[in-house]
Amino acid sequence: MPIATINPATGETVQTFNPATSAEIDAAITRAHNRFADYRRTSFAQRAAWMHAAADLLEAEADEVAAMMTLEMGKTLVSAKAEALKCVKGFRYYADQAEALLADEPADAALVGASRAYARYQPLGVVLAVMPWNFPLWQAVRFASAALMAGNVGLLKHASNVPQCALYLADVLARGGFPDGCFQTLLIPSSAVEQVLRDPRVAAATLTGSEPAGQSVAAIAGDEIKHTVLELGGSDPYIVMPSADLDKAVTTAVTARVQNNGQSCIAAKRFIIHTDIYDEFVDRFVDKMAALRVGDPTDPDTDVGPLATEQGRTDVEKLVDAAVAEGAVVRCGGKRLDRPGWYYPPTVITDITRDMALFTEEVFGPVASMYRARDIEEAIDIANATTFGLGSNAWTGDAAEQQRFIDDIEAGQVFINGMTTSYPELPFGGIKRSGYGRELSAHGIREFCNLKTVWVG
Ligand code: NAP
Repeated sequence: MPIATINPATGETVQTFNPATSAEIDAAITRAHNRFADYRRTSFAQRAAWMHAAADLLEAEADEVAAMMTLEMGKTLVSAKAEALKCVKGFRYYADQAEALLADEPADAALVGASRAYARYQPLGVVLAVMPWNFPLWQAVRFASAALMAGNVGLLKHASNVPQCALYLADVLARGGFPDGCFQTLLIPSSAVEQVLRDPRVAAATLTGSEPAGQSVAAIAGDEIKHTVLELGGSDPYIVMPSADLDKAVTTAVTARVQNNGQSCIAAKRFIIHTDIYDEFVDRFVDKMAALRVGDPTDPDTDVGPLATEQGRTDVEKLVDAAVAEGAVVRCGGKRLDRPGWYYPPTVITDITRDMALFTEEVFGPVASMYRARDIEEAIDIANATTFGLGSNAWTGDAAEQQRFIDDIEAGQVFINGMTTSYPELPFGGIKRSGYGRELSAHGIREFCNLKTVWVG
């Protein structure tokens, strides 16, 4: 894939970038490695001051940054601005909380025959982040804020279609005051990730993206015995029971499916509706999905912009077309829009069977799959009949049912009467083939720390 800004709303190539050479990659690793030697000794207060300065700059520049995101990957300007401001919050969260989250953990010294015993969090060193385009700033910020505040230094290999966002992040952190080498963007293709990961000066890696990318990075890291965090795909269930507030459940379902033009790992993708309310839910959901305005992402009235890449649209189309050929029913949408750009309309599909690829694969576009469940047992069974385990949503007013969903849905996150969202304060991650490790919260910042046991006789 070329490293280039290609406007998904028009298909036009705006700017191309030369990938870094092998020698340039090596020089960047050297800079990072050398910087770590002194950066690891900086105080939390110093790091926080730089992080706050970067947050203030980003806040002031949020409109320009939002326009850049929209240009590179097609999310609506409204959601791009919200993402930029969420990044400001993410920076400030770790700036303010890192010291407390990484405080020494005292142990009972007498029990282990010591005068003092405790666990200490220390940074690992140079950490590589391989990031996706779908939240081009937020995905990278949640890595950068945690890694830098813990005293690590970062190398970012961002998705090839968002180079301007990638360069901006390194730039705003540098302008915030982080010294040279603390955080660098490498404009490299995925084939160059191996060079970085195998370099002995690189301590660990985190990847957010598809399963094949995760497998590749984890295999290399495994070979090198390096720690990794993987945040991969998801096909989140969205269960609605008869006792739910149906108005809210339907309205939220639309947002949960089409947010980010349908390209979110934690988007609700499989809607599992109790049979008593199935017909009413589907009718109301279809009406709302069909009424969404699809178009220019810079227009404030647009609900759904184009998909980010031509390949992404082809992938969505193939899954829908195959399901329809095998007997699934399209209730709205289902055909690409006849206009320039990579537009695909909000789509609702029913009558899906378990042997269809639409049942088993992640659909990375605004396509909702509907399933009827006769009772809570069947709802949980359908929810768990997936290789993924990222987020999940369940709507019910019944306390016992809420507890069943909390206990029995196989996922890294369960949201009751709401939609899955990421918060700096809550751990984020998945199980099964959605990956391992956690981002955000105390857990996210501790991923790239050495938890050193200290015993003093
Ligand atoms: P992708 O193709 O896997 O790309 C993600 C990143 O990995 C890009 O930087 C890409 O670089 C790189 N990459 C691809 N193949 C690689 C390889 N073999 N070795 C090393 N790096 C490789 O994923 P995407 O299509 O951009 O993103 C969509 C996927 O990400 C979806 O499955 C989505 O669910 C998942 N996602 C997960 C989360 C989460 O937190 N769990 C969040 C957002 C997205 P190039 O661009 O140069 O190929």
